[in-house]
Amino acid sequence: MSVSAVNLLDLDGAALEELVASLGERPFRARQLKRWIHRHGAADFDSMTDLARSLREKLRGRAVIAAPAILSDSVAADSTRKWLLSVGERDAIETVYIPEPDRATLCVSTQAGCAVNCVFCSTGKQGFSRNLTTGEIIGQLWLAEHGLRADAFRNAGQADRIISNVVLMGMGEPLQNYDAVLPALRLMLDDDAYGLSRRRVTVSTAGMVPQIDRLAHDCPVALAVSLHAPDDALRDELVPLNRKYPLQVLMAACRRYLRSAPRDFITFEYVMLDGVNDSDRQARVLVELVADLPCKFNLIPFNPFPGATVRRSAPERIREFAARLQAAGIVTTTRRTRGDQIDAACGQLAGAVDDRTNVAARAGHGARVVPVRTWTE
Ligand code: SAH
Ligand code: SF4
Repeated sequence: MSVSAVNLLDLDGAALEELVASLGERPFRARQLKRWIHRHGAADFDSMTDLARSLREKLRGRAVIAAPAILSDSVAADSTRKWLLSVGERDAIETVYIPEPDRATLCVSTQAGCAVNCVFCSTGKQGFSRNLTTGEIIGQLWLAEHGLRADAFRNAGQADRIISNVVLMGMGEPLQNYDAVLPALRLMLDDDAYGLSRRRVTVSTAGMVPQIDRLAHDCPVALAVSLHAPDDALRDELVPLNRKYPLQVLMAACRRYLRSAPRDFITFEYVMLDGVNDSDRQARVLVELVADLPCKFNLIPFNPFPGATVRRSAPERIREFAARLQAAGIVTTTRRTRGDQIDAACGQLAGAVDDRTNVAARAGHGARVVPVRTWTE
C-alpha cells in the first residue's frame, strides 16, 4: 500500500466514478465497487469476485477501505449499543445504535469536539478538535451495519439490512463540516450503498443558516433544529451561534427548508433545563415563535455531566411544559432517559485521549463494556 492510498470510504458515487475513470476502467465498475463496499461490507479487494482481476490489482496498490478503529463496544440492558472509535492519536468519537420495535436508529458523529460550545453540552465543553472526514462519518454506518449483520448471521444464520434510520446527532455540528457530511449523506441515500429513505436520515443543527439553505438544494433530508430557548436573549447564552443567526433568521431558514424537505415539518429539539428555559411563560413564548411553522417538538431531559452548570428539569415540569405545547396543537414528545449512561452519552462524549478513561467509566455504568487495551496510552 502506498502512503497516499485513497480511502474508498471517502468517496461518494460520483467520486468513485472519477477514480475508476482515472484507472482507465468503465463507469459500471464504480457501481460494483460501491455495492461491494457499502452493501456487502467488503474490506478488501480479494473478496470482490466479479471485479476484473486487473482492476483489483490496480486498486490494491492505490486504495484502501479503512473505517475508524473500535476502542470499545458496550451494550446496555435495553440493547442500546455504543462504539467508541479512534479517529487519530488524540481523538475519539462515539456512535450509538438504538433498536426499537419499528425501527433501528444509528446516531452518528460528525466532528471530534464542537466549536459551538452550547452551555449544556459536554462535547462543546471539550472544544473543537477537528472535522471528521467523509470516510470517518460513513465509516460509522459501515462498521455498525456490517458488524450488526455479522452478529445476526452468527445468531440466526441469516441477516437482512439492519439500520433503518440515521441521525447526525452524535458529537459535533454537522453543518460546520458540510463538505465532508454531504458525500456521506449521499452514500446513505444511494440505492447501491445503504438505500435509506430521505425521511429516515436526519441532520440535527444548532442553526447554521447558510448551510441549511445549501442542504435544501444539495441533499434535502429530514431536519432537526436545536432550539432550546424561546427568545434571543436566552438563546444567545445557551447556544452562542444564535448571536450570528438569531431566531427570526433561523425560523425563516426553517420555512425555506420546508419547501424542499422530504417531511412536511421541522423537528425542534429542546433540552429541558431546570429554572432556565422550562417555565409556563417560556412555553407560551415558544408557541408564539413557531406559530406559523409546521413543526414537532422533542423535549430532551438534560443529561448531566461532570462540571455542568445547569440541572435537569423535574419530570412534573417537563410534563407540564409538554402539555402546554400540546394544548397549542404542537405534536410534542419527550425523549426517554434510560437508566444507564450509555444513552446519556449522546452528544456528550469527551473526545480527547486524556478523557478516554472517564468515557469508559461512564459507559461502564450499567453497561457491558469491551475495552480494547491500546486506547489508554
Ligand atoms: N450539533 C448538533 C447535533 C449534535 S447534538 C446540534 O446541536 O443539534 C444532538 C442533540 O443533543 C442536540 O439537540 C443537543 O442540544 C442535545 N444535547 C447536547 N448536550 C446535551 C445534554 N447534556 N443533555 C441533553 N441533550 C443534549
Ligand atoms: Fe455542538 Fe450540538 Fe453540542 Fe451545541 S449541542 S456544542 S452544537 S454538539
